[in-house]
Amino acid sequence: MKILIVEDEPISRRVLEVNLVGWGYDVTHATDGHEALEMLQSPDAPTLVISDWMMPRMDGLTLCRKIRQMHVAWYIYVILLTAKGAKADVIQGLEAGADDFLTKPFNREELKYRTRTGERITNLERRIRELANTDDLTGVSNRRAFMEIMSMEMARSRRSGTPLSFILTDIDRFKRINDTFGHQAGDRVLQHFADILSASIRPYDTIGRYGGEEFVVCLPGTDLPQAESIAERMRMNTEKAPFMALEGSEALCVTASFGAAVYTGNPLDTIDLFIKRADDALYQAKHEGRNRVRLQREG
Ligand code: GH3
Ligand code: MG
Ligand code: MG
Ligand code: MG
Repeated sequence: MKILIVEDEPISRRVLEVNLVGWGYDVTHATDGHEALEMLQSPDAPTLVISDWMMPRMDGLTLCRKIRQMHVAWYIYVILLTAKGAKADVIQGLEAGADDFLTKPFNREELKYRTRTGERITNLERRIRELANTDDLTGVSNRRAFMEIMSMEMARSRRSGTPLSFILTDIDRFKRINDTFGHQAGDRVLQHFADILSASIRPYDTIGRYGGEEFVVCLPGTDLPQAESIAERMRMNTEKAPFMALEGSEALCVTASFGAAVYTGNPLDTIDLFIKRADDALYQAKHEGRNRVRLQREG
């Protein structure tokens, strides 16, 4: 578990670091609030912060307030270091959004167990967040989580001027698989298909289960020709990965159809319109015989 220490005094920082590392934590540090805020933005940043109160540039109290205003999808647990632990300080700290306090000079055992409390709460929060955002059967994002990511990515695309592509895909004749081999085999086809899609993307792309046997892919920084080749790769990987519906049974060939669309930052385009374009392309792929990729119409 990663911990960020924010402390301007080298000796105090060192004591914290040595103890926490000794208990098995992965520790990084910042020397003021500004530096800490910077570090907390990235997706693999620490989610537990132990911060000093008095620091140059930005103090611990301000850091706390800024953390609570930050737009990140995860919870950051903050332990504030106070010099005296006066009631008024504690109240001010709580009001700024601190979760817990440690008085300096700190007691080693107290540091250990207050850190553990923070670890317990952050782990719980992560587990709940995973459960709330994940499709049970396939392990990809569920529809709600996916839509949240898509609208964030649309806003990012508007700001940065980079294209954002979207793929909508639907397994071909899936009802037949259910009817022939049973619902459980159908479920395994869904898992198999989600695995194939997941193997074809980059770390910053997102896959979601849109509903039933329909999946969606969000591709930041990707234009339409690139999205087409990614969809084509997914289509080919699906076609050529035989699926065993039942133990020892004949391999079954599963195929899927794909529709792709691109968003180029037009502020008048809504998420629904963007999805509709890919849906129309998918409909066309189905209509023309399935197992193919089609792109949104021009304009
Ligand atoms: P098309 O090529 O036109 O897409 O045909 P299709 O048979 O794939 O499409 P249709 O919409 O007729 O059938 C989709 C089927 O997916 C019907 C539904 O029972 C099944 N389905 C939806 N969700 C699940 C699920 O979670 N597990 C299983 N096993 N089946 C599901
Ligand atoms: Mg200080
Ligand atoms: Mg369907
Ligand atoms: Mg289908």
